[in-house]
Amino acid sequence: MAAVSGSLMWFRKGLRLHDNPALEYAAKGSNYVYPVFVIDPHYMEPDPTASSPGSSRAGLNRIRFLLESLVDLDLSLKKRGSRLLVLKGEPSEVLIRCLKEWDVKKLCFEYDTDPYYQVLDSKVKHYAAAAEIEVFSPVSHTLFNPVDIIQKNGGRPPLSYQSFLELAGIPPWASSPLPTTPSLLPPVGNVGSCEIIGVPTVKELGFRDIEQEEMTPFRGGESEALNRLREAINDKEWVANFEKPKGDPSAFLKPATTVLSPYLKFGCLSSRYFYECLQDVYKNFRKHTHPPVSLVGQLLWRDFFYTVASGTPNFDHMKGNRIAKQIPWNDDDQLLAAWREARTGYPWIDAIMVQLHKWGWIHHLARHCVACFLTRGDLFVHWEKGRDVFERLLIDSDWAINNGNWLWLSCSSFFYQYHRIYSPTSFGKKYDPEGNYVRHFLPILKDIPKEYIYEPWKAPLSIQTKAKCIIGRDYPQPIVSHDSASKECKRKLAEAYALNQKLNGQVRDEDLKNLR
Ligand code: FAD
Repeated sequence: MAAVSGSLMWFRKGLRLHDNPALEYAAKGSNYVYPVFVIDPHYMEPDPTASSPGSSRAGLNRIRFLLESLVDLDLSLKKRGSRLLVLKGEPSEVLIRCLKEWDVKKLCFEYDTDPYYQVLDSKVKHYAAAAEIEVFSPVSHTLFNPVDIIQKNGGRPPLSYQSFLELAGIPPWASSPLPTTPSLLPPVGNVGSCEIIGVPTVKELGFRDIEQEEMTPFRGGESEALNRLREAINDKEWVANFEKPKGDPSAFLKPATTVLSPYLKFGCLSSRYFYECLQDVYKNFRKHTHPPVSLVGQLLWRDFFYTVASGTPNFDHMKGNRIAKQIPWNDDDQLLAAWREARTGYPWIDAIMVQLHKWGWIHHLARHCVACFLTRGDLFVHWEKGRDVFERLLIDSDWAINNGNWLWLSCSSFFYQYHRIYSPTSFGKKYDPEGNYVRHFLPILKDIPKEYIYEPWKAPLSIQTKAKCIIGRDYPQPIVSHDSASKECKRKLAEAYALNQKLNGQVRDEDLKNLR
C-alpha cells in the first residue's frame, strides 16, 4: 500500500488555481492537501479610531475585496473536491500550530518579497526545517525572480527601467505560466482540534458596514479577474495600441486602463498568464506598442519596482535608503489631513481623493497628480505620509509598487525633473472640460458652471449662490496658492538637490579613502 502523505498549501497572495506552482506541488503525490488562509490581525483588526472604516492598515474596500477573493477561491476548491480552511491569528503561530497537529510532509507557499512576509516565512521555514517538513516556495507573483535580475547586475538592483529591460533581455526571459489548471485536487485531511472558520463577512470580522454608501465597483476573486482579463484582451486593437501615459484619468464610467491591479496584487490573476495573453495578441499585429508605454511595458514596470524594492534596504523610508534623496519635507498634519480628506479647495485634487476613498482605485495619472500636489508640487509634505494613505486605501496597495511610485513622484528617486509640476487646475480640464468627473465625486460642486469647475473660488458670489455652493462655507477655499506654493517647492528642492550632491561627493571621498 502506498504511504499516506499530506501537504499544507498556505495561501497569502496567489489567490488562484491557474498558474499556481505551489498548489500544483502540494497536490502532486499527496493523499490529502490542507489549503489554508490565515486572517491576520496585522491587516484585519478593526480600528474604530481610523479616519475611515477598516483596519489601521487596510481600508474596508480592500478587506471586502480580499474576502470576496477568498469566497471565490473556496468555491473553486470545492468544485475540485477540496475547500479553503480559514483560520485566525498571527500567521506564523497559526501555521506552526497546524503543522504540529496535522501529519504533513510538505509545506507549500508562493515566495513573497515583502519584508513583512519575509519575516513570517523565515519563522515558519525554521520550524519546518526542524520538523523535517519539506518547504516549497516558488516565485510566481512576478514575471522574473528579482534575485536573478540582481545577480545578473552584479549584486545590485538596476536603478532605471532601461537597465532593467536590458537585464530582462530582448525578448524578456519571463518564466511561462503553468500550462494547465488542476481539475481535481486531493481531499482535505482531518483538521483535528484546529479552529477552522468559514470565510467571514466584513460584519463578522467586526467592521462597521457601510453598504449604503458608494463602494468600489470592483469585485474580488480569480473568476472576476479572468473575466476582466478576457474582456480586455478581446479588444485586440486596444491592446495593440495601448500607450501610457496617454489615456484619460477622469474616465470613471469606463476606466482608460485595465483595472487589473487589485487582481495582480492579491494574485487572483497571474502576471505570467497576463503577459502570455498579451504576447498572443501581439502575434496578430505587424505593429503594436512597446515598453515602456505598452501593456507588457506596464507589467515590466511592476517587475522593475519589485526588483529594486527587494534589493534596496529601507526602500520604504527616506532615511537609510541609499537611493532616496534626502529632502527636508515638512510634517504638517493639517496640510496632510486636508489632502487626505479631500479638503484642499482644488476640485481636481479633492475629487481624486474622494474616488480613492470610495473606490480604492484611481487612474495612474490621477495618482501622479495627488502625489505631486502633496509633496514636491504644492504642500511639501513627506512622501512617506502620502504613501501611508495610499497603502491603506488602495485595493491594489502593493508594498514595492506603492513605495517605488512615491519615491518617483516626489522626485526622491528614479525621476528628478522637479520643475515639471502637475497643475491642480489645468491638468484635469484638458481631459474633462465639462468637469463631469469632479461633479460625480464632489456633488457639492455639481451646479457650478464649467468655466469655474476647476477654480470655483473665482466664480462671482451670484454664481456661487445660484449653484448653492458658497466657497469658504460649502466647499473650502484653496489651501495654498498653487503659483507661489509650487515656486517655493522648486526652490526647496533645488536647495536639497545641491546639498545631496555635496553629501554624495563627501561619501564618494570617504569611499575613496577607504579604498586607499
Ligand atoms: P494598467 O495600465 O492596465 O497596467 C497593467 C498592470 O501593470 C497594472 O495592473 C499594474 O500591475 C502594472 N502597472 C501599471 N503601471 C505601473 C506602474 N507605474 N508601476 C508598477 N506597476 C504598474 N500600482 C499598484 O498596483 N499598487 C500600488 O500600490 C500603486 N501605488 C501607486 C502610487 C503612486 C503614487 C503612483 C503614481 C502609482 C501607483 N501604482 C500602484 C501604479 C499604477 O498607478 C497602477 O498600477 C495602475 O494605475 C493600476 O491600474 P491598471 O491595473 O488599470 O493599470
